[in-house]
Amino acid sequence: MKTFSDKIDEYVKNKAIESDKHHVKKNDQFNSSEAGYCPRKIYLDRVDPIKEPEATLRIFQMGNIIHEFIQKEVITGGVYEKDHIIHTGLGFCIKAKPDIIIDDQVIELKSTKSISYINTPNANHVKQVNLYLKALGLKFGKIIYISNSDLESKEFNIMYSEDLYNEVVSDFAYVFDCIKQNIPYLKVEPYPNPYCYTCKYYKKCYPRRTTK
Ligand code: SF4
Repeated sequence: MKTFSDKIDEYVKNKAIESDKHHVKKNDQFNSSEAGYCPRKIYLDRVDPIKEPEATLRIFQMGNIIHEFIQKEVITGGVYEKDHIIHTGLGFCIKAKPDIIIDDQVIELKSTKSISYINTPNANHVKQVNLYLKALGLKFGKIIYISNSDLESKEFNIMYSEDLYNEVVSDFAYVFDCIKQNIPYLKVEPYPNPYCYTCKYYKKCYPRRTTK
């Protein structure tokens, strides 16, 4: 007989399979949520992908549950946008799907373990919202961080920046060129950065380092 834990695992895996079907990563399309990511990760996600570990899938699912709760019960009356596509004119496009739009303002929800250490918005999240603003031709957005342990929240206003948009396009263009020219993406820093320790490609990038 299946234990409760088995049932949770099954639920999380099925949700992940469902999500993968809707979020197939294409070589000529990048997602707004990838803005600011390690370029090697963006590359590997398309050329030689591996599955997320179960622990990460559980965290993703927790985030989805918080998102659904906020969108259905707290921030009501907003517009739930479909995918928007930014055509960069460089052979690739960027997919943008904001969480909510209210009064011409994009709202991006981010669940996190705790908001106590958040004093400024994460740079990657700012890039992500900036792409939404570009896609929709809007000027203002907001990032709301919500603690998934006690539902405390913090919010930050974001204003559109063309310079930041160009920076993100340039980052994606670099990865796109590596994929297009079939260049094995070999650039790995000699030592892992803090993000590497939670990255699913850690062993691929640093095979000789057995411990994190
Ligand atoms: S382990 Fe580090 S270098 Fe390798 S893909 Fe992940 S973040 Fe990038």
